[in-house]
Amino acid sequence: MERTPLENWIVERTGISSCSREALEKYQLKKIMETVQFARTHSRFYKDQLADVSVNSWRDVRALPFTFPNQIRRNPDGFLCIPQREIRRIVTLRSSGTEGEKKRIFFSQKDLDATVDFFEYGMSGLTDQSDRVLILFPGASYGSVGDLLEKALKRSGIACFRRGVITDMEETARCIVENGITCLAGIPIQILQLSRIKAEIYQKCIRKVLLSADYVPTVLIRDLTERCGCRVFTHYGMTEMGYGGGVECQALNGYHMREGDLYIEILDPLTGRPVQDGRVGEVTFTTLTRQAMPLIRYRTGDLAAFSPVPCPCGTFLRTMSRVYGRRENKVRICGDAFLHFCQLDEWMLSFPELLDYKVWLERENVLRIEVVLLSGIPFQETRDKMSQKIQEEIGRRCGCRIEIRLTQKAGGLEKQVNSMEKRRFCMSGNSCG
Ligand SMILES: [Zn+2]
Repeated sequence: MERTPLENWIVERTGISSCSREALEKYQLKKIMETVQFARTHSRFYKDQLADVSVNSWRDVRALPFTFPNQIRRNPDGFLCIPQREIRRIVTLRSSGTEGEKKRIFFSQKDLDATVDFFEYGMSGLTDQSDRVLILFPGASYGSVGDLLEKALKRSGIACFRRGVITDMEETARCIVENGITCLAGIPIQILQLSRIKAEIYQKCIRKVLLSADYVPTVLIRDLTERCGCRVFTHYGMTEMGYGGGVECQALNGYHMREGDLYIEILDPLTGRPVQDGRVGEVTFTTLTRQAMPLIRYRTGDLAAFSPVPCPCGTFLRTMSRVYGRRENKVRICGDAFLHFCQLDEWMLSFPELLDYKVWLERENVLRIEVVLLSGIPFQETRDKMSQKIQEEIGRRCGCRIEIRLTQKAGGLEKQVNSMEKRRFCMSGNSCG
């Protein structure tokens, strides 16, 4: 099995003298010290937040205060470390919290270049010169994920076509055939939808897919692997990290992280202390090379675990499990139990006739689920099967019964306007994207 290409890339870019954790961690500590100093002298937020700290050891790092998403929402400009005129891209992320507060993330040219560099090496682990890649991430604007990925692939001389998020399944299918596409890079639910609507095209053309921009349900990976015969690679990243975070190697067993640019911790969400390898906790990162907007011990809200065993590819880099979704993406049912969106995804997406769904907790113990089915599928039978499965799974996990109200969305798959939004429980009264 080929070793992750990220290993050589990180060794080269960091200039560490040996392929060892020790050397890499020494580099990371040095970069954290520099980042703290840089952030404190250039950003208003960190000037206050880090006024009294000094960092000389890992112990000091673990005592650094956390940065929370709400703090960015309250005052994004306070995080800025470069003059406004040097900003090359601003991403506004819609808040799920208070109305009117938006998270804005800033990039300098150097930040964007660093991400292209990561994408180039990350993609070299799954594509080669024989591949033709269709990019189905948003890509219209300068510095968007699609734009950066296209630049990265072009640098490696790999043929690629940037189409943006899928708004028309027929047109996308045509594009795959006409251009001899072998690899798709896109949003998990959209890639699944396309595979269910255009199964024959997947079987004929698509050898590999790269999924990103949301956590990836296991059932979705299994379905694409077994039914469509694709190799499914997943990437984990978030805008705050500079888009790119980590990508799977040929072992397809979790992410190797961009450890030259990010220091990752997995913490107990309640105590903020590191959890043991193998235990699930909250992904927390410190940027090591970001210029416009460095973040220190940023609590992502995403849940994952570090693998306690080395990756079969033989790298010295750490392996992080696939992300299990967001900490707060859950609802309380049956008194004191929680239903996580990722659990529901596993159950719902296992139905091959399903294309998409939205879910609301109408009242405690009443779930409303609105489904989009493949055309020609009789709703009533499917509804009964789905309701029964959800009932059984919830009964098994929480020992209680809840009411499921399944409805069918009129009009089917409508144009997706904000597909980068993470899938989640809808709040009552809102349209959920
Ligand atoms: Zn590996």
